[in-house]
Amino acid sequence: MAPDAEGFLYPQILADKCVDCGLCEKVCPIGKPKAEKKDVQGYIVRYYDAAIVEHSTSGGVFTALASHVIGQGGAVYGTGYDANMRVVCKKATTVEELAEMRGSKFVQSHLGDTFRRIKRELAEGKKLLFVGTPCQVEGLLSYLRKKPDNLICIDFVCRGVPSPGLWANYVQMMEKKFGSKMVGARFKHKTYGYHATTMKVDFENGKSWYGSGRVDPMMKAFVSELASRPSCGACNFKQLGRKSDITMFDCYEFTSVTGMPDDNKGYSSVLIQSEQGAELFEAVRDRLTVIPAQADQLVKANGIMVYRSAKPNPKREQFYRLAQSEPIDVAMEKTSPITAKDHAIEKVKGVLHKAGLVQLAKKMKKKIKRSL
Ligand SMILES: Cc1cc2nc3c(=O)[nH]c(=O)nc-3n(C[C@H](O)[C@H](O)[C@H](O)COP(=O)(O)OP(=O)(O)OC[C@H]3O[C@@H](n4cnc5c(N)ncnc54)[C@H](O)[C@@H]3O)c2cc1C
Repeated sequence: MAPDAEGFLYPQILADKCVDCGLCEKVCPIGKPKAEKKDVQGYIVRYYDAAIVEHSTSGGVFTALASHVIGQGGAVYGTGYDANMRVVCKKATTVEELAEMRGSKFVQSHLGDTFRRIKRELAEGKKLLFVGTPCQVEGLLSYLRKKPDNLICIDFVCRGVPSPGLWANYVQMMEKKFGSKMVGARFKHKTYGYHATTMKVDFENGKSWYGSGRVDPMMKAFVSELASRPSCGACNFKQLGRKSDITMFDCYEFTSVTGMPDDNKGYSSVLIQSEQGAELFEAVRDRLTVIPAQADQLVKANGIMVYRSAKPNPKREQFYRLAQSEPIDVAMEKTSPITAKDHAIEKVKGVLHKAGLVQLAKKMKKKIKRSL
């Protein structure tokens, strides 16, 4: 696998070593028959442990499912960081090791030899849980040919993935700016609650950076569709019924779906895709707050990207071209500038948060918008 100019990895065929067997094309999940249409049961859930939910992207359903598999003597393959802050697929065999997998990293992860390791461990009879993007899950299943009973796959509703190269650019820019090595990053830290997406970055010198998609160039690139892989704009894996066992996603519209008040701490939406998924979900039910919900209702309210690919920003190519030779903040400045007004709003948000007035300000903003 080698990076292209945008920093996305693509397979390279060594012509002198290729025996032309066609196997790589056969196992490629693109163009394979889609998952069959099926009834999918939906739920809104939250993990019982508030501290875990605080550090999870939405309601912590991943931890509930993964810790059960580990409790059964199995292992979990999920996404964390390596020593250089690259986003990589890792294996956890203890619940403590799940901590670094919590938190969505909006970057395409390095899989390395994960599929080969999974195949070997499955053949040895180990119980495994793999969590990945819909394309990674379908890629693994296609590589394995037949899904064995000791493998459970969880995918999520995926907006898209920015390139590992762009992320490396961001890490380098931030380390220079803060004069210290980056030691942690959370793309959706609940600093101002679940509904405000905040990037939190920690440095070795004890400093931290907090920035929303308004002022953080990496988050802005992600949410404004400047950065996703080209194939994410026409994703091949968008549908309700998937080949995974469970699909998880956010539940932003908790109040409109349930009629109950939203405490801004986060709930996860869940779609049960298979019998195996249903069994695992039942096994962890007592560790979750569970509200049954129609799959269609969840999709309509929260997960439009179950079906739809995000539309690339018309300035995407310009942004990536600039980011090849400039730090990401400069590339952003030249493509879609972060203004003094953006910084001012961000500061006011911090002050309002300290005074406990963020929710009130949001409600007022909505009211004003509606009255205009
Ligand atoms: C790139 C990406 C895009 C997403 N887009 C959407 C969206 O548009 N709408 C929506 O509703 N939800 C989206 N999600 C899913 C959402 O962020 C949560 O994963 C989901 O709500 C489950 O919440 P949780 O609290 O259980 O997650 P957490 O406890 O935070 O667990 C996160 C899980 O995601 C896995 N993960 C993290 N980063 C990556 C990565 N780069 N590649 C593969 N796996 C990863 C981890 O291994 C872990 O299993 C996206 C997630 C990612 C990673």
